[in-house]
Amino acid sequence: MPMVRRIVIARVGRHPAAEDLIQETLVRVLAASPRIDPGMLEPYAIVTARNVIASMWRENDRRERNQHRVVDLRPPAAPGEELLASEEQSAVEQALARLSRRDRETLLAHEVSGQDTRSLASKTGSTAGAVAAQLNRTRARLRVEYLLALEQAEPPTDRCRPVLLALSSGDRRRQRDVDAASHVLRCEVCARLCQPLMDRGHQRDDEVHVAINCDADIVAARQAARELASRLGFSRTDLTILATAVSEMTRNIVRFAGTGEVVIELIDGPRRGVQVVARDTGPGIPDVDKALADGYSTYDGLGLGLPGARRLMDEFAVVSEPGRGTTVTMTKWCQEG
Ligand SMILES: [Zn+2]
Repeated sequence: MPMVRRIVIARVGRHPAAEDLIQETLVRVLAASPRIDPGMLEPYAIVTARNVIASMWRENDRRERNQHRVVDLRPPAAPGEELLASEEQSAVEQALARLSRRDRETLLAHEVSGQDTRSLASKTGSTAGAVAAQLNRTRARLRVEYLLALEQAEPPTDRCRPVLLALSSGDRRRQRDVDAASHVLRCEVCARLCQPLMDRGHQRDDEVHVAINCDADIVAARQAARELASRLGFSRTDLTILATAVSEMTRNIVRFAGTGEVVIELIDGPRRGVQVVARDTGPGIPDVDKALADGYSTYDGLGLGLPGARRLMDEFAVVSEPGRGTTVTMTKWCQEG
């Protein structure tokens, strides 16, 4: 957290958006951290901050350029979208062409024709595990080649592909071996591409998991809840209320359980809202009813957060097993205007 703050402040100073940029960078760095070598963390934070800041400038620039168009009532240009789709398609074709024939055929048989790894293995006299590993390597390579094709640029050095591949496959040892950390700081192309390569893993975009271990994770969880909820058109006040409840529950995990997880999920009907599940494997709460009662303050103050958070949310349930842990499930509904 102090590292990310220092990096962002060094670039934008006391810009009003600095806090948002710090949080945005932090969320991305935390999301990627399981897949990058610890020595890679700072360089990754630096290039991520750079990318986040650059996209903010681009966005501002676009808004300024479009300011005179506020009275233009024509629908947004659809031809642009068509162009985008055809660019993506040709990038996929180019990326596939870059794979070895064997890798390409296995990948297509699996992803397009739906053949499982066991039947693929029996065809080549291999094992299902070996085929699965081969598929993972092929996917990692395909992601790299796809992004390079979209950039329409050959990587500037012959170290780029090995670095990008190590990042794409999340192989921390390879990242150390090819010194990915120093390369992404010096290479502009790899600095740009490492972001989308590491951002994958969010397969579902209506659900976010945040592992909770330290204070920085509280910020990440709060930010993730805000981001998801803002898509549903929550009011500013409700966004703040939700973020506060998430902070309270996450803080409890850090303070009393040490580690846990927060899962934030959009509920899309019949009523729209956000559900938050905060789970830990801590000491548990001996008497939940008592802990939920207002003014409850024993157990080192754990009860303080619970009645407070319950008042902020529309639905609130606590399940706790002494010695095993606690799960809090809470929901905030979107006030449809
Ligand atoms: Zn490079």
